[in-house]
Amino acid sequence: MASSPSGSLVSADVRRHNLALVAHRLAQQGPLSRSQLADVTGLARGSVTALVAALVEAGVVRESEEPEAAPRGSASRGRPLTLLRLAADDVALLVLQLDADQATAVLTAVDGRALFRASEHHGRPMGDPGRVLDVLARVLARTLDAAAGLGRRVVDLTVVVFAPIGGTPPVLVADTDFEWGEVDVLGGLRQRVPELPPATLASDGTVAALAELAELEAAGSGVRDLVYAKSNSGIGGAVVAEGALVAGAHEFAGAFGHIAVDPRGPRCLCGQRGCLVTVAGPDVVLAAAGLTAEVAERGLTEALRELVARINAGEPAASAAWEAALPWIAHALRIVSMTVDPEVVVLGGYWAELAGSIAEAFAQNGPAIASTATAIAVVPGRLGEDAALIGAARVARGALLDDPLALATVHPTSVTI
Ligand SMILES: [Zn+2]
Repeated sequence: MASSPSGSLVSADVRRHNLALVAHRLAQQGPLSRSQLADVTGLARGSVTALVAALVEAGVVRESEEPEAAPRGSASRGRPLTLLRLAADDVALLVLQLDADQATAVLTAVDGRALFRASEHHGRPMGDPGRVLDVLARVLARTLDAAAGLGRRVVDLTVVVFAPIGGTPPVLVADTDFEWGEVDVLGGLRQRVPELPPATLASDGTVAALAELAELEAAGSGVRDLVYAKSNSGIGGAVVAEGALVAGAHEFAGAFGHIAVDPRGPRCLCGQRGCLVTVAGPDVVLAAAGLTAEVAERGLTEALRELVARINAGEPAASAAWEAALPWIAHALRIVSMTVDPEVVVLGGYWAELAGSIAEAFAQNGPAIASTATAIAVVPGRLGEDAALIGAARVARGALLDDPLALATVHPTSVTI
């Protein structure tokens, strides 16, 4: 490798890869000793020692002496053990989520610990992005203040929105929850909060899908092909193929709310006719169930909770509204399933609470070619309402740990390995 003309480039890549490996393992399994780190990374001891030296000098990893557990039956107290843990104590990650009820901010440390949480209801003013962005900016500013108070600078901001995103720069598009059409959320925030940290925009369905995939992986399911479909603020989701998100050419992949299921249906804000969200979206189902006033008084989340309770109790209007929506939902999931052939469809939002009836409706029109062994499972998600927040924080943390020296408190210009 050293003799090739690009040898130094290759070794720089290897070093970057190994630094990331050490940082990820410490985040997931730390604190660890150097020899434990060598075991879990598969790297040589000498290599681990050099990588750790660079990370310690950069302030990203901290050493501490802890007494080693004495061997069983031994009277001796065991030698002190030097353990390594992620430090990066002066940085934080911020996830800001906008849904149909409120703006929520969660500040986390690089090791995933939650440091601060704030939220504020916006009252869902229809067709008025400015008022909602004002609330979002207020929650953001409060959280940036909290970070400063904790002595941390925010190195990454992910803004999670409830509708598909697209375009360059990315904007929120085809929103039906607020009747917005297209809104440049990051631009609007930048106007209101000039000291905006480096920010990315994410659709709630995509980050929630990644979080649910990680849950399935942690449970040892081995799932690699997954469709995530959710309904809370609108209808959305994501497609995961071979463990990776399918973004699509225009990043619309997974915008299941805008699958045109009824060619004679009502015109959607996206311009199509009969989108799933226009015939089975949360507002449509809530209106049919007689819960429109509930939405205005208590917000969408509470109204959907009430809807689920009434459906489960067999209340006639709620049950009829759900029975009317179910065939459209199952129809859309069938189209998606035949297109991407997932192992599992994971349901989020209030659909998770009604997964049994969706699975039943989905199975009713299943193709005869799908034997029991190849049938697609339809299951509720495990993460509940925080799935998108958890997923966004996880994605941001992963990206930071891929380049741990960028978190340096003291820029390690003199460090060589
Ligand atoms: Zn549409």
